Amino acid sequence: MSDHNAFPDGWREITEAEFVRSAYFSQVPEKRDYRQMLDSGTRDPAKLDLSGRELYMCATLYSYADKTGIALASEHERGRVRFFAFGCPHEFHGLTVAEERKLGVSYQSLQCGTCGLIVGKPDSSD
Ligand SMILES: [Zn+2]
Repeated sequence: MSDHNAFPDGWREITEAEFVRSAYFSQVPEKRDYRQMLDSGTRDPAKLDLSGRELYMCATLYSYADKTGIALASEHERGRVRFFAFGCPHEFHGLTVAEERKLGVSYQSLQCGTCGLIVGKPDSSD
């Protein structure tokens, strides 16, 4: 089934200040798509319009290599743009030397405790 009308996992509204500091301005997205999303019966304000109504949310979604994303949604009636993030809100921690060896990753790699994503270069020592 198409996910064209579904909110991606981790959908959350961010402030304009957070958007300014986001990947949108510093990374090339892997994918860009346009969605008209509806989550019937939701009470999540990030999935409702600014009046709290359940309407299709029209947004352009930018997905990045680290499995996070940024979205811009149009609020037609108010002439407003709303900013959203989706995907894992990564919380990285360092790995022990034993973990790095087991995973075959380089010194000082970081791993997200939530989704398991590892950031670091592949080990090229052998
Ligand atoms: Zn994560």
